[in-house]
Amino acid sequence: MDLHFLNKKEVEQLKSLEVYNFYQLLTYFPHKYKEEYKHLSIRDARRGDAATVTGEVVDLEHNDKHAKKTFVKAILDDGTGELEIVWWNSPFVLSLLQIGKVVSISGDVVEKLGKMSLSNPKIITGKNIKKVEAHNSLFKEEDKKKPLTAIYKDNKIIKTNVIKKLIGLALNTKDFEKLSDIIPKNVADTLKLPSLKQAILMKHFPKDEEMLKVANKFFAFQEIFILQVYREKEKALRQNELSHKIKISTKGEKDILKLLPFKLTNGQAKVFEQIKNDIEKDRPMSRLVEGDVGSGKTAIAILAMYAAVNTFIKDRDEKGRETSIEKRLQTAIMAPTEVLASQHFETFINILKDENINIALLAKNVGKVYPSKIDKNKATTLPKPKIKKLLEEGRIDILIGTHSVIQKTVQFKRLGLIVIDEQHRFGIKQRRNLIERSKGDISIKIPHLLSMSATPIPRTLALTVYGDLDLSILDELPPGRKRAKTMVANVESRTKMYEALNEFLKRDKQAYIICAKVEESEDEDSENPSKIKNVKDEYKEIQKKYPDYKVGLLYGKQPKQEKEKVLEQFYKNEVQILVATSVVEVGISVPNATFIIIENAERFGLSQLHQLRGRVERSTDESLCYLLTQTEGDKSLDRLAALSKTSNGFELADIDLAERGAGSLLGKRQAGMTDIGMEAIKNRKLVEIAKEEAQKLVAKDMELRQHPKLLEFVESLEFHEE
Ligand code: ADP
Ligand code: MG
Repeated sequence: MDLHFLNKKEVEQLKSLEVYNFYQLLTYFPHKYKEEYKHLSIRDARRGDAATVTGEVVDLEHNDKHAKKTFVKAILDDGTGELEIVWWNSPFVLSLLQIGKVVSISGDVVEKLGKMSLSNPKIITGKNIKKVEAHNSLFKEEDKKKPLTAIYKDNKIIKTNVIKKLIGLALNTKDFEKLSDIIPKNVADTLKLPSLKQAILMKHFPKDEEMLKVANKFFAFQEIFILQVYREKEKALRQNELSHKIKISTKGEKDILKLLPFKLTNGQAKVFEQIKNDIEKDRPMSRLVEGDVGSGKTAIAILAMYAAVNTFIKDRDEKGRETSIEKRLQTAIMAPTEVLASQHFETFINILKDENINIALLAKNVGKVYPSKIDKNKATTLPKPKIKKLLEEGRIDILIGTHSVIQKTVQFKRLGLIVIDEQHRFGIKQRRNLIERSKGDISIKIPHLLSMSATPIPRTLALTVYGDLDLSILDELPPGRKRAKTMVANVESRTKMYEALNEFLKRDKQAYIICAKVEESEDEDSENPSKIKNVKDEYKEIQKKYPDYKVGLLYGKQPKQEKEKVLEQFYKNEVQILVATSVVEVGISVPNATFIIIENAERFGLSQLHQLRGRVERSTDESLCYLLTQTEGDKSLDRLAALSKTSNGFELADIDLAERGAGSLLGKRQAGMTDIGMEAIKNRKLVEIAKEEAQKLVAKDMELRQHPKLLEFVESLEFHEE
C-alpha cells in the first residue's frame, strides 16, 4: 500500500520525517498531547484548570509601554464572576482589549492571594471563539475529562498542520478501511487488545489519558511481538543449518592453557565449557557472552578460536572436490575499532607464536600477516588484496579485523567460527553470506557464532534484542583485580582532585578526563549550557594546567586517522592525559591508566559510567574514579552514589532501565526499536507474554504462512538488520 492519494510534493515532504509508506504515515504519531482549554464560566473555574473564559472587559489598566517592565491588567466579567488577568511585557495586547469589548481568553487558572487569575493568558479573536465553542460542544458529554490535542513533531519542510492534514487523508482511504491486524486474533483476544485500526485512531485522537494508555500498550506489544517472532524465526531457521564440528583434544586444551599467561578464572572455565559443548555439535552455535568489563573475554575468544584452527578437515580443490589433504578450519574475530583489532593481533601473536598458525590483521588502514616469510618471529605488512587472496585460498587461519572488512569483501575457504567482540547482531543471512561467497566450499556449513559484550543488560532487554542467542554470563573478575575507588565530587573538590591526579602522573600513571560534550555550541536548549564541560575547551585547559605532560584529545567525529593516532600514543604512554568523550567506553584497555575524571557525570547513564570506570580497572594497581557533578539535586546525587556502592554492572543496568529506559542501555538503532518499544522493555510481563506467544506461533507455523501481514513486518526487520 503506497501513498497514491498524495501528490509528489507531499510525498517528498514526508520523507523529511522518514515516512516513506502508508503504514509509516498512519503510525506517525503525535510526540505529545496538549490538554485543550475547557470553556468555563468564571464561577466554575478552579485552580489547575486549562480554561477558556469569555466575558466583557470591565476594567483596563497599564503602565507606560516604554517602561522597563510593562504590564497590562484587565478585569473580565462573564456574569458569573470576575477574573483579573495580567500580561507582563506584552504591551501589544492593548490593541485587542477595550472596556466593554467581549473577548475569549485562554490560560491556566491560578490562585494568587485568594484571587483567581489566568497565567500565560492568550486572547482568542472572534473567528476562533466559534471554533473553541464548537470544539467544546464536541466533547460536551465528557465535560469533566479534558480532551487532548495531538502535536506532531514537525520541521522546516513540513509543519504540524500539514502533517495532520496528510494523516487525515490517509485515514479516509479505502486502504485504511481494509487495514488488517498484524497480531494474530487469538493473541490479541487473550490480551484484550483493540484492533490495529482502532489503536491508530486512538493515538491520533485520544479522548483522554486512559484511551492513550490502551493505544500505547497495543503498539508496545505489537512491536515487541514482531521482534520476538523474528528472533524465534531466526532460531528455528538455524535448526536447519549445519556447521563444522569443532573439537579440541584434552591435550590440545592443556597445551593452550599453558600458553595463556594466567590461570582461567572459574567463570572463564565455565563459559568455555558451554562453548565447547556448542561447537562440538554440527548445529551452529549462537552464543552471547556477557561479561563485565575486564572479566577476560579475549581469553575465551582465543581458546575457542584455537579449538577451531586445530580442527582439520579435508581440503577442496578449485572445483570444490575433496582432496586427501587435511587443512585447518579458519576463524575470524571482529573488533569494533582498528585500535582494538591491532591490540588483539598482538595478543594473539604473543600467545600463539609457536603454534604454526597463520594470523592476519585486516582493517581499513592496515593489513598485516604473521609470521613473515623473511623473519618467522615477526609480522609483516602486506597489501590488503594480497591478504584477501590468502584468506580465500585458505592460507590464513585466523583473521582479526573490523566489521567493515568482514561484511563485504572477504571470502573464506573453511570458516568454522566467527567471534564478534563487543556485541553486534549477526543474522543468519549474514552468516550464510560469508560462506555462500566462499569459493570451493560446497558443503554449505555456516560458521559458529560467538558474540561478546561488555554491556550487562537486564533480562527483559536481552530476551528481546538477543532473544535468539544462548546467553553465557561471565560475572567474575580475574583475581587481585582492584575496583576503582569511586568518589562523587562537586566543584569544591576540584583542587584536591587535581592534586591527586598530579600524584598519579608523578608515579608515571596515565589518566582519562571525560566530558559529556564535544564543543560549546551543542545542546543550546539545555538549562545551563555553559556549565557542561566540552572536550575541546577542556583539552586546552588541561594542557595549560599540566604543561609537563602530553595531553591527547579524542572524540567520535574526529577523522579516523587522528583517532587511531592519539589512541596509539596513549597505548604507548606517549600521551599521559587523554581528554575524551564517551567514545573510550568500548573496549580500550590501557592497564597503566588508573585515574579517571568524569565531568558532568549526571549527564551519563549508570551503565555508561560503569563502562567508563572500567577503563581504569584493568590492573592490580590502585585506581581512582572521580564523578564530578554540579547538580545539587538529591536524586542525581543518590543515583551517582549507587556507583560508589556497587560494581555490579547488571544491578546498575537495572537501575538505568527503570530510570532512563532501554534507550540508555542500547542504541535505538542497535536494538531496532522505536521509543514505544524501548519503553515497553520496562514491562517484564509484557515482554514475557510476547515471547511466549511468539514461540507458540513459530513452533506451529515457522514460515508464517497463516500470517502474511506479520511476515511482511518480520521481513522488513530482517531487511533493516542487514
Ligand atoms: P574484557 O572482558 O573487558 O574484554 P580482557 O579480555 O581485555 O577483558 O581482559 C582484561 C585483562 O585481564 C587483560 O589484561 C587480560 O590479560 C587479563 N586477564 C584475563 N583473564 C585473566 C585471568 N584469568 N587471570 C588474570 N588476568 C586475566
Ligand atoms: Mg574486550
